[in-house]
Amino acid sequence: MQTNFTEAQLADPDTARSNEILRTCVHCGFCTATCPTYTLLGDELDSPRGRIYLIKQMLEEDRPADAHTVKHVDRCLSCLACMTTCPSGVHYMHLVDHARARQAEKRGGGTPDLAYDDRWMVSDDRVDEVLGLDPQASRCSDDTGTNPCSVDGANRDS
Ligand code: SF4
Ligand code: SF4
Repeated sequence: MQTNFTEAQLADPDTARSNEILRTCVHCGFCTATCPTYTLLGDELDSPRGRIYLIKQMLEEDRPADAHTVKHVDRCLSCLACMTTCPSGVHYMHLVDHARARQAEKRGGGTPDLAYDDRWMVSDDRVDEVLGLDPQASRCSDDTGTNPCSVDGANRDS
């Protein structure tokens, strides 16, 4: 992917690293197949490739994150499944971490703004369905063989 950072921007180590990473992306889209948010929502901007474009624009233009960018970056689960299928070895984790840090910085620091009224909400059951998980196995088991959802024989959810 072609990038257009200035020398001044590249003096920042995080931006220099993001620039290197962005240049390794070849737009192939293989990553979309393993991205749960793209699988669920079907929106290119909720895929790794789409988010990479949004992050690139935000960093290159050195502007405050707009609500559109924040919405799609915030929807990323940081599961990094996309990194396992990228044939070019794009280090998505650095990009999304850099984007989130930049968003917080441009907001004046602090924690991410949780007040966006169009934040993505999805049920645990829907996530399990998309990921092909057994809801009980994914939430109510641990490696000791005991059931952490069970307290004195009763299920916490019941
Ligand atoms: S699989 Fe890798 S190279 Fe292809 S679009 Fe996704 S991040 Fe870019
Ligand atoms: S980290 Fe997970 S949710 Fe985020 S873009 Fe990659 S596969 Fe999709």
